[in-house]
Amino acid sequence: MKDDLRKTGVNSISNVPWGTHFCMFYESKEDLINILVPYFKAGLENNEFCMWVTSEPLKIEDVEKALRLALPNIDVYLEKGQLEIIPYNEWYIIEGEFDSDIVLNGWVNKLNKALDNGFDGLRLTGNTSWLEKDNWNNFVDYEEEVDSILINYPMIAMCTYSIDKCNASEIIEVVNNHEFALVKRQGEWTQFESTKKKKMKEALNDNEQRFAEAKRIFDVLETLPTMICLLTPDYHVKFANRAFRDKFGESEGRYCYDYCFGRTEPCDFCESYKVLETGQPHQWEVKAPDGSIIEAYDFPFTDVDGTPLILEMDVDVTEQRQTQNALKKINETLEEQVKERTQELSKSNIELERSNKELEQFAYVSSHDLQEPLRMVTSFTQLLERRYRNQLDTDADEYIDFIVEGAHRMKYLIDDLLTFSRVSNQTKDFENVDLEIVLNDVLSNLTVSLEESNAIITHDTLPIIMADKSQMGQVFQNLILNAIKFHGSNTPIIDISAHRDEKEWIFAVKDNGIGIEKEYQKQIFEIFKRLHTRNKYPGSGIGLSISKKIIKRHGGHIWVESEPGKGSTFYFTIPIT
Ligand code: ADP
Repeated sequence: MKDDLRKTGVNSISNVPWGTHFCMFYESKEDLINILVPYFKAGLENNEFCMWVTSEPLKIEDVEKALRLALPNIDVYLEKGQLEIIPYNEWYIIEGEFDSDIVLNGWVNKLNKALDNGFDGLRLTGNTSWLEKDNWNNFVDYEEEVDSILINYPMIAMCTYSIDKCNASEIIEVVNNHEFALVKRQGEWTQFESTKKKKMKEALNDNEQRFAEAKRIFDVLETLPTMICLLTPDYHVKFANRAFRDKFGESEGRYCYDYCFGRTEPCDFCESYKVLETGQPHQWEVKAPDGSIIEAYDFPFTDVDGTPLILEMDVDVTEQRQTQNALKKINETLEEQVKERTQELSKSNIELERSNKELEQFAYVSSHDLQEPLRMVTSFTQLLERRYRNQLDTDADEYIDFIVEGAHRMKYLIDDLLTFSRVSNQTKDFENVDLEIVLNDVLSNLTVSLEESNAIITHDTLPIIMADKSQMGQVFQNLILNAIKFHGSNTPIIDISAHRDEKEWIFAVKDNGIGIEKEYQKQIFEIFKRLHTRNKYPGSGIGLSISKKIIKRHGGHIWVESEPGKGSTFYFTIPIT
């Protein structure tokens, strides 16, 4: 109905919706004619039932005359019963008295009749010049009531007040009881609205907007799969969405403690209402009567009228908790098993370390003790060779050669084994070692090998590190000797470099030799592991395992990156202490 705008017919007022109740302050008879005639003309032409309640200074004849002038076909409307012109004393004053209820009922009856007769609504005017001071207050109350109820009806009312008869406070009262007032200013009619009325209108608009917003939110909330409810400070369930109702049933008129927990009083475990005390969101967990576990999220919320509310979202976490519990159990069992395994492992590690130590001890003792008898075998074989070569038959000479060579090989093996076992048996404390000096010593020891192979050696300036000096020398020597030995058909080009990062030094010995197949790159660090026959490349297969042991003792690690035919780079790290 509100959107149905009606033409006022008055130039200075735009179209108004049904339910508009306004007033005009006139100075003269002409003012009334000038405003009311076009007002009624518009009503009659737009199928409205029109009622003109008149009093001084306009008589019925004046009104009819003025209307006829503006509407030459006025008789048509009069015959249709669309227009009534009534003197005030037949409408406002019944049995000598003004009774607001009777007048109000009268308007509503007239409206109903008009609607029954096929008119769109009722347009009216009432003049108040008949009002005496002693019934002014009564009339003000009546106007206030008209103002509050008219909004609900297809009615438009214009009340006319003589400006000369009203004092300032009466004017304010009149303006406050109407949507707006028409006032003549410098000969022009203007629309005037009281601030009180304006504020009321704004508040109404504001409320309407808030209601619309609230409705929108509720429509969102209603269909969400999460359970959502609104609780009032006095424990009423103001709203429960579909998901909530699916679980707890209809919520209308229920108290939350009864609705969710079947209790007769607020629940002592409830934490939802904390939100009203703190104004802060709150999360808590509760077991519902059916055994399900609910995670509740409460938020402060305000109703459209400003009442504080609690917006609660509930998530059924029963399954989640069950899964979590099952996972927790699995985790605990796993942790227990890992603990047991770790204990077992550390036991076997201790055992392994002990047997390794014993083995090293054995290797050391046996290789050390073997040296003496070996020296005897070697020196007596050499004696045999010197004295009897060419005196026995040729077979005997060959056998003697085998013995001598075997004894030499055994000597090298025993020497290497001794070195291997000494890495952890006969150790020196770490000290500041200048690797530049260590490397230069190694290179001068290897002068003969380097010259024989025409090797080209380049290197970075090496740092000073905390280490066992002779062991570091041994590592460089092993790696450089291997780089020379496994050069293949190329002249060996060897580069030694050093880089550091936050935690360690990284050294590299790079060659351009035969390279190592990927599958053997780990194995070569095992003791006695060799990839070639002794005839092709002599050696014991112990050098890299000694190097590995030394680097491990220093807290670092050693590895190789290589491409067969292109060369190898042996890396090792030493942590920075
Ligand atoms: P040895 O040199 O006495 O054989 P090592 O333990 O030093 O024993 O080396 C083991 C094996 O690793 C060598 O026999 C060889 O097959 C391979 N190897 C080591 N260094 C190199 C290298 N620079 N280039 C190619 N192969 C290498």
